[in-house]
Amino acid sequence: MTWQANITPPRNLPEFLPGWVWLVGAGPGDPGLMTLHGVNALAQADVIVYDALVDTQILDMARPEAERIYAGKRGGKPSPTQRSISERLIDLAKEGRRVLRLKGGDPFVFGRGGEEALALVDAGIPFRVVPGVTAGIGGMAYAGIPATHREANSAVTFVTGHSVTGDVPDNLDWQALAKGAPVLIFYMAIKHIGEISRRLRDGGRPADEPVALIASATTPDQKVVTCTLETMEEAAKQVAPPAIVAIGPVVELRKQLDWLSALPTSAE
Ligand code: SAH
Repeated sequence: MTWQANITPPRNLPEFLPGWVWLVGAGPGDPGLMTLHGVNALAQADVIVYDALVDTQILDMARPEAERIYAGKRGGKPSPTQRSISERLIDLAKEGRRVLRLKGGDPFVFGRGGEEALALVDAGIPFRVVPGVTAGIGGMAYAGIPATHREANSAVTFVTGHSVTGDVPDNLDWQALAKGAPVLIFYMAIKHIGEISRRLRDGGRPADEPVALIASATTPDQKVVTCTLETMEEAAKQVAPPAIVAIGPVVELRKQLDWLSALPTSAE
């Protein structure tokens, strides 16, 4: 335990005004990846509307009297519709409360934060956005895989494996992705992993390209399985969501850079 209770927070962290909504990214899991703006939001919010992937230790940083409203899936029940969540945020803000909308990762990366922000604009509710460490970046770092590496790739592409309808996205140019994106980081891809593997190979991607499946990244349950584009469907049986799928030459660097597995257990 090395926490210094007398750390002075930076000056000028913003005041959370009543009637405002702050859309805040909680990071991928490890509470240490929360930003100071996020902690500042937790310290002031009256009500927190949070998603399934937000760690309870992060919620524990909130004011004890803050109301906590769960807005994710639970026990197989369908999650509240996006519209009902947006309406809830608007109603709470109109009551003059400080509303913290806490989302896993970054609110604007496959998090539907943009839709919520647009609903707030329509309703005339003032808001602030606090970015978070997205799973595709935090998960790569905790797996010891640089998202970019000189000579390996000059671009990195975030892709969702799941469209609004629940299928593999068809509005993507899979041929172009296969040819033009040296490193691909898929979110929400486990369900359709076989189809994704086939589409990329059909687009010309080598079957033996290195792949890492990174599940529950940055949490104590993190599990990384390395495989190839051809074997990733079979390998995915070893992991449970949430997981990201990293495809590309940078995955090989994990052999040398897997710092997390090298930590003494007490330091994790
Ligand atoms: N806004 C989030 C993404 C939400 S979509 C972000 O920026 O990270 C949900 C998907 O994110 C999951 O299906 C999974 O692909 C990914 N994800 C979120 N948390 C994760 C974690 N701890 N480990 C691995 N993948 C994660």
